[in-house]
Amino acid sequence: MSEFDFSKCPHCNCKHFYRQKDFNKVIGCFVILTGAVFVPFTYGLSLLLVAVIDWFLYKRVADEAVCYKCREEFKNIEIPDNIKPFDHHIAELYEEPD
Ligand SMILES: [Zn+2]
Repeated sequence: MSEFDFSKCPHCNCKHFYRQKDFNKVIGCFVILTGAVFVPFTYGLSLLLVAVIDWFLYKRVADEAVCYKCREEFKNIEIPDNIKPFDHHIAELYEEPD
Protein backbone atom coordinates (compact mmCIF):
# COMPACT_ATOMS: atom_id res chain seq x y z
CA MET A 1 0.00 0.00 0.00
CA SER A 2 2.91 2.38 0.66
CA GLU A 3 3.51 3.13 -3.02
CA PHE A 4 -0.16 3.86 -3.62
CA ASP A 5 -0.47 7.55 -4.55
CA PHE A 6 -4.20 7.96 -5.31
CA SER A 7 -3.57 8.67 -8.97
CA LYS A 8 -6.06 5.91 -9.71
CA CYS A 9 -7.93 3.17 -7.91
CA PRO A 10 -6.15 -0.22 -8.10
CA HIS A 11 -9.54 -1.95 -8.40
CA CYS A 12 -11.46 0.04 -10.99
CA ASN A 13 -8.99 2.65 -12.35
CA CYS A 14 -11.24 5.44 -11.09
CA LYS A 15 -9.31 8.69 -10.62
CA HIS A 16 -11.54 10.26 -8.00
CA PHE A 17 -11.48 9.71 -4.27
CA TYR A 18 -13.02 11.42 -1.30
CA ARG A 19 -11.98 11.53 2.33
CA GLN A 20 -14.12 10.68 5.32
CA LYS A 21 -13.72 9.84 8.96
CA ASP A 22 -13.30 6.18 9.72
CA PHE A 23 -15.81 6.68 12.51
CA ASN A 24 -17.93 3.85 13.82
CA LYS A 25 -21.44 5.31 13.71
CA VAL A 26 -22.82 2.48 15.83
CA ILE A 27 -20.53 3.49 18.70
CA GLY A 28 -21.49 7.15 18.19
CA CYS A 29 -25.21 6.34 18.37
CA PHE A 30 -24.71 4.14 21.40
CA VAL A 31 -22.88 6.91 23.27
CA ILE A 32 -25.64 9.44 22.50
CA LEU A 33 -28.33 6.93 23.46
CA THR A 34 -26.61 6.21 26.77
CA GLY A 35 -26.56 9.93 27.48
CA ALA A 36 -30.27 10.22 26.67
CA VAL A 37 -31.13 7.40 29.07
CA PHE A 38 -29.48 9.20 31.99
CA VAL A 39 -31.07 12.61 31.29
CA PRO A 40 -33.76 12.22 34.03
CA PHE A 41 -31.08 11.48 36.65
CA THR A 42 -28.56 14.12 35.61
CA TYR A 43 -30.87 16.99 34.60
CA GLY A 44 -29.53 16.84 31.04
CA LEU A 45 -25.88 16.97 32.03
CA SER A 46 -25.34 13.46 30.67
CA LEU A 47 -26.19 14.73 27.17
CA LEU A 48 -23.53 17.38 27.46
CA LEU A 49 -21.06 14.77 28.64
CA VAL A 50 -21.73 12.35 25.77
CA ALA A 51 -21.54 15.22 23.28
CA VAL A 52 -18.02 15.86 24.54
CA ILE A 53 -17.17 12.15 24.40
CA ASP A 54 -18.58 11.92 20.89
CA TRP A 55 -16.56 14.93 19.76
CA PHE A 56 -13.44 13.50 21.38
CA LEU A 57 -13.87 10.15 19.62
CA TYR A 58 -14.50 11.90 16.32
CA LYS A 59 -11.34 13.98 16.61
CA ARG A 60 -9.27 10.91 17.38
CA VAL A 61 -10.26 8.79 14.41
CA ALA A 62 -8.15 9.09 11.30
CA ASP A 63 -9.34 10.03 7.85
CA GLU A 64 -9.77 7.35 5.25
CA ALA A 65 -10.05 7.71 1.49
CA VAL A 66 -12.87 6.14 -0.51
CA CYS A 67 -13.04 5.46 -4.23
CA TYR A 68 -16.07 7.16 -5.82
CA LYS A 69 -16.70 4.31 -8.21
CA CYS A 70 -16.22 1.01 -6.39
CA ARG A 71 -16.41 2.42 -2.83
CA GLU A 72 -13.17 0.73 -1.90
CA GLU A 73 -11.89 2.16 1.39
CA PHE A 74 -8.24 3.01 1.89
CA LYS A 75 -7.33 3.09 5.56
CA ASN A 76 -4.13 3.56 7.54
CA ILE A 77 -2.57 5.53 4.75
CA GLU A 78 -1.39 9.11 4.32
CA ILE A 79 -4.11 10.94 2.40
CA PRO A 80 -2.87 13.79 0.19
CA ASP A 81 -4.42 17.26 0.56
CA ASN A 82 -5.94 17.13 -2.91
CA ILE A 83 -8.33 14.40 -1.74
CA LYS A 84 -11.43 16.37 -0.70
CA PRO A 85 -14.53 15.43 1.29
CA PHE A 86 -17.42 13.81 -0.55
CA ASP A 87 -18.62 15.87 -3.53
CA HIS A 88 -22.06 15.07 -4.85
CA HIS A 89 -21.24 16.40 -8.32
CA ILE A 90 -18.29 14.06 -8.72
CA ALA A 91 -20.34 11.16 -7.32
CA GLU A 92 -22.97 11.73 -10.03
CA LEU A 93 -20.35 10.93 -12.65
CA TYR A 94 -20.07 7.43 -11.22
CA GLU A 95 -23.65 6.68 -10.39
CA GLU A 96 -24.90 3.45 -11.87
CA PRO A 97 -27.91 4.12 -14.12
CA ASP A 98 -30.17 1.47 -12.66
ZN1 LIG B 1 -12.33 2.01 -7.30
